[in-house]
Amino acid sequence: MQRREKAIILGGGISGKLTARVLSNFYKEVIIIERDQEPTGPFPRKGAPQGNHIHALLHAGEYGLEKLFPGITENFYSTGAVKINSTQDLAWFHHGVWKLRYDGGYTTTLQTRPHLEWHVEQYLRTIPNITILYNNTFRDYEYDETENRIIGIKINDGSSVKTIYGDLIVDASGASSMTTGWLKNRGIQIPEEKVKIGLIYISKVFQLPADLNRDWTIKLVYPNPPQEKIGGTISKIEGNRYIVTFIGYHDEIDEKQVLKNDSSFLELAKKLPKDDIYQALKEAVPVSNTSVFRVPQIIWRKYEKIKQLPNGLLLIGDTICRIDPVFGQGMSIAVLETLALQNLLQNEHQSQQQLIRAFQQRAAKIIAPIWSMVLTEDFRYPATIGKKPFILPFMQWYSKNIFLLSAQNQETYHTFIKVMNLVRPITILMNPKILYRVLKRTLLNHSIK
Ligand SMILES: Cc1cc2nc3c(=O)[nH]c(=O)nc-3n(C[C@H](O)[C@H](O)[C@H](O)COP(=O)(O)OP(=O)(O)OC[C@H]3O[C@@H](n4cnc5c(N)ncnc54)[C@H](O)[C@@H]3O)c2cc1C
Repeated sequence: MQRREKAIILGGGISGKLTARVLSNFYKEVIIIERDQEPTGPFPRKGAPQGNHIHALLHAGEYGLEKLFPGITENFYSTGAVKINSTQDLAWFHHGVWKLRYDGGYTTTLQTRPHLEWHVEQYLRTIPNITILYNNTFRDYEYDETENRIIGIKINDGSSVKTIYGDLIVDASGASSMTTGWLKNRGIQIPEEKVKIGLIYISKVFQLPADLNRDWTIKLVYPNPPQEKIGGTISKIEGNRYIVTFIGYHDEIDEKQVLKNDSSFLELAKKLPKDDIYQALKEAVPVSNTSVFRVPQIIWRKYEKIKQLPNGLLLIGDTICRIDPVFGQGMSIAVLETLALQNLLQNEHQSQQQLIRAFQQRAAKIIAPIWSMVLTEDFRYPATIGKKPFILPFMQWYSKNIFLLSAQNQETYHTFIKVMNLVRPITILMNPKILYRVLKRTLLNHSIK
């Protein structure tokens, strides 16, 4: 196989790192540009502040990560990540009911985002043709107008600006990517969907007293929309600690009040639909500061729709789409996109530009069903503002039934778990048996009323 020369990746987050892993097989040299300092361990960092909050890795993400980095899952466990039975050890209060608990044969890995990213980074350090340039901020593209091609980038290392050139430039700089602005200045408007959700995340890490009767490893207490807007999760993580994250839609949480002290954080736990997290925290010892992250809106930038995109530029991860993080899909989307890129690179008969175009279309196909699942939930709040999918009422009715059946019928919940973990398409929830149960439930409810 003839290797292409040099690829440059903007951003060394999850997408940047995974992309580097894949490109290292197809390009002689791969350079990641990262504005943060070189990490010294699995710690939260400034450039990815969402790492202070719970980060669940869905099954699709976990399987894909293992494909890209064989042995990484065992490495997670050997340094403290927690292996759980996905349906037995998860206690989940959702739409006013507790989901069933049983051994469904699936496992999930609980760990912090910095722990996950640190392991990926260790793996990258063993690949000789990957270089990570830390403390370097991407400033601008180097553009060849006659060829409509991005030929390089300008970076600032804090003391000077320099230009580096590459054959392929990948924007993996996340939700704050500068590319749409850069394109707009050249008259190219990227079509985008924006949905205002007014979401806030507030998190803190605790040590819990030993309790032999604790029958869960992760507990999710979701709000029942539209009446309830505040939810919370408590999850074991590496270091025998627990991360507690509260979420509030449409500015429901008074951030200043919660940040006052440890007991005001605890007070927030009383506002959840169930007091389980409050009870778990009563004897707990806080071992971190309180972190806050706001997601005022989610956004999907449709690069695949633009024919005149400059040659040599590929976009991946949150740069394309920041989705509502409550459903824990962002990193798994990045993994699925990277695997799609790897697949396309294996076809040697297409030009780099054909590959980029095909990739942006594949990425859109990965995002579309997930985006529509997320909007189904986000639009249960009347204050959510954005373009509603036209089948929204049907989706909301159907999924509500699936959520409620997940508290009664194991097969329905098990099918839902596969869809939620992005390993099976949403259409399997429409199989005749489940459809029958949904219709039966609806008819029974109507006849009771
Ligand atoms: C509060 C919150 C909770 C979340 N929870 C989950 C979860 O439970 N499960 C899940 O799968 N996903 C979750 N996500 C989503 C997940 O964090 C993202 O989908 C994922 O981080 C996307 O990775 P990325 O590499 O595309 O972007 P990022 O992780 O944002 O990385 C972008 C990188 O680019 C660097 N960068 C940016 N600009 C420049 C520049 N100009 N020059 C150089 N470097 C630059 C940044 O420093 C950073 O390292 C959550 C997100 C949020 C906000």
